[in-house]
Amino acid sequence: MQTVKIASLGFPRIGRQRELKFAQEKYWRGELTQEELKSVAKGLRSTHWKWQADAGVTLLPVGDFAYYDQVLTLSATLNAIPERHRDESETTSGEIGLDTLFRVARGRAPTGKEAPAAEMTKYFNTNYHYIVPELTEEQQFSIAYEQLFDEVSEAQALGYQAKPVLLGPVSYLYLAKSVGRDFDKLSLLPQLLIAYEQILNRFSGQGVQWVQLDEPVLALELDSEWQEAITSAYQLLQNRNLNILLASYYGSIGHHQTLVSALPVAAIHLDLVTAPEQLSLFLPHLREDQVLSLGVVNGRNVWAADTDLISERLAVVANDLKTRIWLAPSCSLLHTPVDLDMETKLEPALKQQLAFAKQKLVELAQINTLLSSPNSEESQQIVASCIERRNARDAAADQQVIERVNGLGERDYERDTAFIHRQQLQQDKFQLPLLPTTTIGSFPQTPAIRGLRNRWRKDEISEDFYNQQLQQVTKDTIERQLKLGIDVLVHGEAERNDMVEYFGEQLEGFGFTQFGWVQSYGSRCVKPPLIYGDVSRPNAMTVEWAEYAQSLTEKPVKGMLTGPVTILHWSFAREDISREQIATQIGLAIRDEVVDLQNAGIGIIQIDEPAFREGLPLKKADWEHYLNWAVDAFKLSAAGVADETQIHTHMCYSEFNETIAAIAAMDADVITIETSRSRMELLTAFEDFEYPNEIGPGVYDIHTPNTPTVDEMVILIEKAARKIPVRQLWVNPDCGLKTRTWDEVEPALQNLVQATKVLRRRL
Ligand code: GLN
Ligand code: ZN
Repeated sequence: MQTVKIASLGFPRIGRQRELKFAQEKYWRGELTQEELKSVAKGLRSTHWKWQADAGVTLLPVGDFAYYDQVLTLSATLNAIPERHRDESETTSGEIGLDTLFRVARGRAPTGKEAPAAEMTKYFNTNYHYIVPELTEEQQFSIAYEQLFDEVSEAQALGYQAKPVLLGPVSYLYLAKSVGRDFDKLSLLPQLLIAYEQILNRFSGQGVQWVQLDEPVLALELDSEWQEAITSAYQLLQNRNLNILLASYYGSIGHHQTLVSALPVAAIHLDLVTAPEQLSLFLPHLREDQVLSLGVVNGRNVWAADTDLISERLAVVANDLKTRIWLAPSCSLLHTPVDLDMETKLEPALKQQLAFAKQKLVELAQINTLLSSPNSEESQQIVASCIERRNARDAAADQQVIERVNGLGERDYERDTAFIHRQQLQQDKFQLPLLPTTTIGSFPQTPAIRGLRNRWRKDEISEDFYNQQLQQVTKDTIERQLKLGIDVLVHGEAERNDMVEYFGEQLEGFGFTQFGWVQSYGSRCVKPPLIYGDVSRPNAMTVEWAEYAQSLTEKPVKGMLTGPVTILHWSFAREDISREQIATQIGLAIRDEVVDLQNAGIGIIQIDEPAFREGLPLKKADWEHYLNWAVDAFKLSAAGVADETQIHTHMCYSEFNETIAAIAAMDADVITIETSRSRMELLTAFEDFEYPNEIGPGVYDIHTPNTPTVDEMVILIEKAARKIPVRQLWVNPDCGLKTRTWDEVEPALQNLVQATKVLRRRL
């Protein structure tokens, strides 16, 4: 049988040793010239194209590279850059230059005037952040930035067939925000399409044959105007000289099947990892001349694919469609680390289970081999290694954890009595004043603390010395809080590098890579832990720190934990069991810690869930299921304690309107949230719902170095008190203080305590 094409929707740009990050940051600091930065970038592109070509990819993606963000590159290409960031003198031709892109993204660049950066937000349900295009009602589009076209020529000069990859016009508009007067963004579509046509014509003039247009909005539930926009856009963009691959990902587009099947595009890409059922839905409607790109290898995770099972599933369509199918990752590989070969220290048992971007393309080639020559020796070897890998995984299962999860009953999820009763017991126990003050957990991670941790990691100082020094920091942190007069103290989290990694390192079932970095935004990368096995907690994780901190004061010290939902979302989680099951396992591990903290005399325990909301599925129809299991995992972690023990949770900036019932169902005794920037608007959801438990709406915006004044905070607290009965209110900052300095934190908290005192007298 003939072999099929292997397609790549995009490759990570950062480099396997984060070369791009280091070059960007050096350029921003003035340690690299723009030419030098561009040459690093060029080197990365050529390496990445070569890896893809070596794996058998024939149409090489161009446009997946970006100096900051691919949506921003597109905005520049379209000349849709905010006026405040423009600097006509930057290039001789008056086109947009690279520093303008950096000014949009970061508010400043080595040249040009500083101006507030554009907003950045999460790209759909991923942890990648894009720069939100700002469009005005009079927005004009034209081609004003050459990077994409230059990169096409660059790939061609290396002998490759270039396939430009662009966000499609409808998704681009959808992700943009309207500035100035509020207007219907779709009114800009006709203009925008003219610019897209110009871009496509330029590509075609360069000899390009295929262009990939990504329309991830298709995975959402779109109202009729947006659906019509898709139809009219692709009617207009059909081009005699150019084949369009319409790509969707991150979820099923089955609900738009009729719409999508009718579009005059040469190929359709489906994410068959998140929604395998789409294959049978779209197949019958594929036109004779249309190609179907099958996203069968997960582009958002790090696990080796079961290539044997995938090829079994595809055998029939491969036989029917022959060269009209392409094999591809489910989405751009942007969301995976670059190269597993870099991991020389990983346990072989874990390494065997993994595939990063470079390896995922090899997996596609393997599927191709399995389909085209199923009986070859090579194919037999591929199958054997898949089976071996699965057997190894199954053999590593922890029966105790599995039985514990299976044995859970409804009682395990509920506190002993209702909140009203618990509240009374807790009040009697802690005797806190009206409007109790607290903080969210972390205090400044000073250079001294970071330096200490580095030396400890490199074995330059002993564990004992490290712990002693951190105890000093903790002691100092407690003393400062006592001096400030805060009511409920925290130990300060000096021992934590990161709120997930710290726990992952102490839990069974977690693994860590050396180079498993993924771009989060700009030069910022994250290295999520891997949850590869059943999760359990062999030993107490935080009890000694909490006990030590509590021993220094009569005031209550809050225990500080990361919740199961957040640990799950911020890790690369295994795929052989459901996310719900993993969350339950982590919930049990955290529950054990919560109970141990209580038994060690810690009466107030905070279980942070800042990632609770970001786990919401793309489609509203799927929200309920997610919220049910996420709430349950949190409740499981919290419900092992006596009524007197007060459970807090914390969430960062969240829109609560549509999830307030779930937040209430979590039944935390106290929730702290970020509200200062919205000036308490986010509390309205709690007000309307008549949220019954206690709330600490943030009154101190910790994202800026500015000191909030007493008056400002008085106003905010009064505003909160108009929405929520004052007896339910706490006073605290928006979030943890680890990124701030003591010079910033101390006066701010002083004012916060002062504001509270003013109000206690007044109310
Ligand atoms: N307890 C954590 C801290 O204060 C919470 C961080 C967060 O919400 N992201 O740092
Ligand atoms: Zn927070």
